[in-house]
Amino acid sequence: MCGIIGYLGNKKVSEILLNGLKRLEYRGYDSCGIATIEDDKLIIKKGVGKIDEVSKFEDFLSANGHIGIGHSRWATHGGIIKENAHPHTDCKGELAIVHNGIITNYKELKEMLIKKGHKFKSQTDTEVIAHLIEEEINKLNKSNRSNISEKDYITSVKNAIKKLEGTYSLLILNKNFPNLLIGLRNESPMILGIKKEECFLGSDISAFLEWTKEVIPLEDGDMVILKKADGNKGNISNISYEIYSIREDRDITPKRKKLSIDWDIETAEKGGYEHFMLKEIMEEPEVIKNSAKISKEEIKELARDLKKYNRIYIIAMGTSLHAGMVGEYWFSKLNKLVIPCDASEFLVKGIVDENTLVIGITQSGETYDTIKGIKYAKSKGAKTATIVNVLGSTATRIGDINIMMGSGIEISVCATKTYLSQLMILYRLFIEYGKIIGKNMEIFEREIENIPKYIRNVIGEESRSNIKNISESLTVKNYIFISKGINLPNALEGALKFKEITYLHAEGMSSGFLKHGTISLIDENMDTVALVPPSSSDLFNSVVSNIEEIKARNGKVIGISPVYIAVDHLIKIPDVIEEVSPFIYAPVCQLLAYYKALELGRDVDKPRGLAKSVTVE
Ligand code: GLU
Repeated sequence: MCGIIGYLGNKKVSEILLNGLKRLEYRGYDSCGIATIEDDKLIIKKGVGKIDEVSKFEDFLSANGHIGIGHSRWATHGGIIKENAHPHTDCKGELAIVHNGIITNYKELKEMLIKKGHKFKSQTDTEVIAHLIEEEINKLNKSNRSNISEKDYITSVKNAIKKLEGTYSLLILNKNFPNLLIGLRNESPMILGIKKEECFLGSDISAFLEWTKEVIPLEDGDMVILKKADGNKGNISNISYEIYSIREDRDITPKRKKLSIDWDIETAEKGGYEHFMLKEIMEEPEVIKNSAKISKEEIKELARDLKKYNRIYIIAMGTSLHAGMVGEYWFSKLNKLVIPCDASEFLVKGIVDENTLVIGITQSGETYDTIKGIKYAKSKGAKTATIVNVLGSTATRIGDINIMMGSGIEISVCATKTYLSQLMILYRLFIEYGKIIGKNMEIFEREIENIPKYIRNVIGEESRSNIKNISESLTVKNYIFISKGINLPNALEGALKFKEITYLHAEGMSSGFLKHGTISLIDENMDTVALVPPSSSDLFNSVVSNIEEIKARNGKVIGISPVYIAVDHLIKIPDVIEEVSPFIYAPVCQLLAYYKALELGRDVDKPRGLAKSVTVE
């Protein structure tokens, strides 16, 4: 995830781009850059570091044109070096591209383009787009590029885009068309801002909120063409926009709704939500799509290693450990033993040698105990892999195999969307491993498409308002989260989330374990949140009877259930297959914690005494 901004108008473009990039810096900031056109020349300025530093060093403001694009990067492919900073160009340096998202087939495209003689300057997935468009333009066979018509150029862009797989919001400049800016969107955000005499394109409204509050949110498959007409058209604006549907191949400008926004900058950064935590929960369906596509080859490689090794650990801390525990259940369905281990205990109890595979999961890539565990495993000759969100972090440099999560930056201290991403990576690993050992994994593969839809159902307005009402009606200070089977780690995670931001006491355990001691605590002062397994699960009846035992002791029960059950409060969720269910229970628990913390007036995004990345022992 990153921030992009584009501008066509009458103002000095570099000022607009710089201001927009600073507004978008919260989305990721390992490097940044701009491209503008001035006197028919393409000017590119970029570098590694914070926007303030790079813009001073590279003198962004010396660019004087009126058309341009800018990017603040959150790297997914290729390290954090100047060459990988956006904008990226074609061989001739005529095109400039900024991109937010992941091109999943970039390796195949790059190979094909290299064979055709294209020279690459970066390791990013993005650069293939510039060369692909160049390749389409080459096919027009015009020795003089200025003879290419605008129509042919736009067709070349469309043809190139149709070859891309993955997610993108893209802005494209071409120095031969100094009055034309093209934007495209597929599963990464892009908003068009409009005003008389100027147009903006941005990852979100905060990028240009100072200048206009009239916006058109674009949809997947949209292509926007911003144009400045030559000549004088009297008092009619000479800047226009057209929206095409790449999929339907036609002008759909009238189909897209214009909105007037009355947000301030802070609200805009949070996408209109009160907190980053809620914004990040609401991003889950989109994020999960990225995680479903990223690091294809690395996942296959790790799946092959799962077959090769018999002693396999997943080491992690906090939320990442809970993701690893869900992984244990998935692999057990394929008769594969994978042991999740609290990374801070790994050096004490891990049995590690060259026949061991150790997979570390860490969002930040800097979690002290996980890094220490991976280093320890390496020192014993074990094979290591990491699942990580921050490219360039320590974890990405020490694992033999590094898998990116593709969640984009997470600002709220409380992990939400990154947990879902970790689950998706492990789910894909489960599918790949199953295929390797000859199992039919089609049903699980097909569900990848549906998971965002299931999540949308539980985070939708109706469900959110039900969860909010329930959380506000809870009055006790003690909570137990229970489940059985693959959602037991979600019960642990639900309790963790709840205590982390509400500061109320919560603990998670299997509903079987509850009877071995803890049930003595159940009374009207201890509520239970029960994650009831899908109705097709063998465990469904067992959890339902555990709920009866709690009710018999005057305990109040909040049931998160796929079917109607008699509880004090019911949160209905889609009834899916067991293997897919962890993706659905998790957001419900996150929302329950969120609304309770909100009601209690807690600092939701920055809970007391916590840090986003735990880099100490
Ligand atoms: N995949 C691109 C890169 O790694 C874009 C990442 C982003 O969205 O910032 O450069």
